[in-house]
Amino acid sequence: MESYSDLIAERRAEIVERIDAALARAGRADEQVTLVAVSKTVGVDEVVAALGAGYRVFGENRPQELVRKLEGLAQMGDVSAYRFDMIGNLQTNKINTVLGRVALIHSIGSAHLADAVSSRAERRIAEGSLAAPAHVLLEVNVSGEASKSGFAPDEVRACMPHLMELSGIHIDGLMTMAPRGDKDAARRTFSGLRELRDELRERWGLELPELSCGMSEDFEIALEEGSTIVRLGRVVFNPSFALQ
Ligand SMILES: *Cc1c(COP(=O)(O)O)cnc(C)c1O
Repeated sequence: MESYSDLIAERRAEIVERIDAALARAGRADEQVTLVAVSKTVGVDEVVAALGAGYRVFGENRPQELVRKLEGLAQMGDVSAYRFDMIGNLQTNKINTVLGRVALIHSIGSAHLADAVSSRAERRIAEGSLAAPAHVLLEVNVSGEASKSGFAPDEVRACMPHLMELSGIHIDGLMTMAPRGDKDAARRTFSGLRELRDELRERWGLELPELSCGMSEDFEIALEEGSTIVRLGRVVFNPSFALQ
């Protein structure tokens, strides 16, 4: 029987092939995209297997689990360089847990949360316990589904001047989640995110290079629509989850 490590290494090769093909279809063959392996439902052993398979960027959605994974990996000794991103809903009382531990916070979904992250980061920088402003993405509810969190597009447009003044955060781009199970709606969501980014870029002279969108069921569509960061959970860690 094949080991879990072998299975996810084979799966990774298939995913990378799919990513490359989607980029080629979009005329983006020379671009790099970041593949975030979303480890929220697996343990440290699976993350170690994923490191062995070549993954270097991981995503967690709960601060306590993030800390547990980081501590578990630290005990494994010499595993080569990796980073973790925060991809989920972040409560203000957990901001200090993630600052300094993650490379990128994908899920800043309100001006209130942006203010809170920025002020805590400024304080930590002043104290010397954080090296630089926190890299963040603004989560936008492009599809408008009531169940989804994030800024409404008009809210981002209105808040941008304020967000740009916050010195404790660096806004790298935008993030969204598409409706499940509807490819056309997913494509509209991803293209809508890109168009909003282009608009904000033009209007405010920002770069906003990163578009974090695309999950196990829709990452190829997301890449065709300009995604620079895909967040893949089940397709990475569950070898029996079918690549579509
Ligand atoms: C769980 C999760 C993912 C990964 O979902 P899959 O469908 O398993 O790939 C991506 N992004 C966020 C924000 C998540 O919570």
